[in-house]
Amino acid sequence: MYKEILHYCSERNVDLIVVSKMRTIDEILHIYHQGQRRFAENRVQNLMERKEALPKDIEWHLIGSLQSNKVKYIAPFISLIHSLDDPDLWKEIDKQAKKNNRIIPCLLQIKVAQEETKSGFEWNELVHLLKAGEWKKYSSVAISGVMGMASLTDDLLQIRSEFMQLKKYFDELHREFFKDNSFNTLSMGMSGDYKIAIDCGATMVRVGSAVFEVGQGEGIKKPI
Ligand SMILES: *Cc1c(COP(=O)(O)O)cnc(C)c1O
Repeated sequence: MYKEILHYCSERNVDLIVVSKMRTIDEILHIYHQGQRRFAENRVQNLMERKEALPKDIEWHLIGSLQSNKVKYIAPFISLIHSLDDPDLWKEIDKQAKKNNRIIPCLLQIKVAQEETKSGFEWNELVHLLKAGEWKKYSSVAISGVMGMASLTDDLLQIRSEFMQLKKYFDELHREFFKDNSFNTLSMGMSGDYKIAIDCGATMVRVGSAVFEVGQGEGIKKPI
């Protein structure tokens, strides 16, 4: 369904990041050859292996929780880290960015889902941290927006209200702490809920399984 999803996103000016975790190299190449250049992985180890095996013009994003001791592996090339969710991690990304003489774009991951398992800053904790201001020293980390995940539920109203909450947080951070135009990315929405997320103001969606499904008119032709 890559083409349909891409079309849906481009018509609405939304960036599509294809989540390639758990896919084979051939499956990823199949999407690559249709023009996709931005892919995301949730584990550093897998990201490194895929980067090695795939064309060099791919832009890699990290979407999964990141341990400080692994930042050094991705710092030389990562295009966007969606999962900045801890002050120590922030500091480490800054350190590794400086070592590599680059600025690393990151999103603040904020928790809006009900589940305990979902990671991200608690909103109050984040505001506290931002007010304290230590992060302003981390000049090689460019905070370019917010990332979040809705609860895993069939309740579409709940999903919508969580995305709306995230959009409010995004706007508030933009107003209070990150005033320039480089704070412009709201990464929310996956296979099951990307249309709702876009309705609620997502500027970037991270879609995995749905992209790799074979849609109508794709794949094997029916016999006449
Ligand atoms: C796996 C994953 C996705 C994509 O999920 P699909 O349901 O396969 O589209 C998006 N974001 C994060 C953080 C993920 O871990």
